[in-house]
Amino acid sequence: MGKRYPGVYGAEAFACLIQEVSMNNQYDYDVIVAGGGPAGIGAAIAAARIGSRVLLIEQAGYLGGMATNASVPAFCPYTDGKRVTIGGIGLEVLEAMKRESYESPFYDNKPGRQKEYDWVPIDPEVLKRVTERLVIDSACHILLHTVVTDVIVKRGKLAAVRIHNKSGNSTISAKYFIDCTGDADLVALAGGAFEYGDQEGLVQSGTLCFRIANLNTERFMAYAKECGEDGNLNIAVSKAKASNDFIEDERYVSGIALQAVGVAGLNFGHVYHFNPLDAQDLTRAELEARAKLPRLMEFLRRYVPGAEEAVLISSGPAIGLRESRRICGEYRLTTMDYYSRATFEDSIARYSYPIDIHASTPPQGDYRDDLEYVTSRYQEGEAYSIPYRSLLPIGISNLLVAGRTISCDRAMMASVRVMPACFATGEAAGTAAALCNKNNLQCKQVKIQELQKQLTLQGAILA
Ligand SMILES: Cc1cc2nc3c(=O)[nH]c(=O)nc-3n(C[C@H](O)[C@H](O)[C@H](O)COP(=O)(O)OP(=O)(O)OC[C@H]3O[C@@H](n4cnc5c(N)ncnc54)[C@H](O)[C@@H]3O)c2cc1C
Repeated sequence: MGKRYPGVYGAEAFACLIQEVSMNNQYDYDVIVAGGGPAGIGAAIAAARIGSRVLLIEQAGYLGGMATNASVPAFCPYTDGKRVTIGGIGLEVLEAMKRESYESPFYDNKPGRQKEYDWVPIDPEVLKRVTERLVIDSACHILLHTVVTDVIVKRGKLAAVRIHNKSGNSTISAKYFIDCTGDADLVALAGGAFEYGDQEGLVQSGTLCFRIANLNTERFMAYAKECGEDGNLNIAVSKAKASNDFIEDERYVSGIALQAVGVAGLNFGHVYHFNPLDAQDLTRAELEARAKLPRLMEFLRRYVPGAEEAVLISSGPAIGLRESRRICGEYRLTTMDYYSRATFEDSIARYSYPIDIHASTPPQGDYRDDLEYVTSRYQEGEAYSIPYRSLLPIGISNLLVAGRTISCDRAMMASVRVMPACFATGEAAGTAAALCNKNNLQCKQVKIQELQKQLTLQGAILA
């Protein structure tokens, strides 16, 4: 059977391909990026712009990861309260989305926040389009509707990924791979080490985000302002609680973003106690979350001024997953690093989002269970560094990892997991892979100063 896509072989060619990879060192691509969320977008564009032949593989029919596939309503801060710390491709995506979106009427002028860069509401349809365009313009190939199902490992290196899509099963080889699946699928499939969950093997709860329309924008905005910083509609929540009418197992509204006049995205409602790597658990979580939506809408209509006539226009498409595997890498970023505002010689990004752990089981306390989110907050202008070594899984020399699964402890993950940081680790991984490709290096042999120089040229902020 001949090639059906550039470099994508049918299953029958599998044996020939392996022979080809091992004997001739011919690769279909220089770099394969698995997963097209913020990390994968950053990685693919960065590697392609530096001249590598890159393939980006994504299981959904569009790019964006949780922002589009789970309707996460807003980007976490790009600044440390004083200045932008996430530059480069992540900032380019943000600016492109803002240019082409409806202007959000939401004016967030809280102290320590910059409305141009912090908590910018997401327009998912525009985000899909601009990320596709940026990836295509970088000359990167994209394969949508395609799942990486397996990997082929040879002498401590990944030789190829096995994929499944409507064309069947195929195998694609590359010199370097970047795992941006949000689940560290490639690392796990390659037999690499990873951590998962807390001491009891539980991960943060998930949320089926949703969008509503028909809000009275003016009344709603006045009310949101009244609720104040961190309010997240907390006056309404308190009222409902006082009447014993708040949603069972919920303590607060995690997030709401006014995306256009009359339209808001909500990060509201938790599903507890499920394993995002288990298909049956995922199915249960998805069904449970959808069944909860009418109750959440009822609360909004009854208690939130401006939302009396609100209608649910969409959910998901899929439940949002906050936590999954964390790889064991050359450096494990820790909570101690967070609190000491650590800097590293091999810094590839700086970030400052607090430790934001959503409970894995229904919280018992009266109000917010995620107190560390408040207590871990930095002063304006403070940040920590993310070291390159945290992107390097132990034992697989041509594989990098970016996004929420980089090497870190669980609490630290609750900071680096948000999208601006994922763009940044993605861009660093893509840049490193392209530099290694030019010089035929293993990922851990990359010259750190050259990587940092290149990232800085691209607009990334490392110090
Ligand atoms: C409910 C919720 C609310 C959140 N709120 C915010 C917020 O307000 N602001 C913020 O900035 N962040 C927020 N986050 C965090 C953030 O959205 C994610 O942590 C972030 O998107 C992770 O980026 P990533 O690129 O690592 O992974 P993802 O965004 O998960 O992207 C991974 C991509 O890989 C694809 N994929 C997975 N496995 C495979 C495979 N085997 N083969 C092919 N493709 C595959 C997936 O389809 C997906 O597109 C929230 C997360 C959740 C769940």
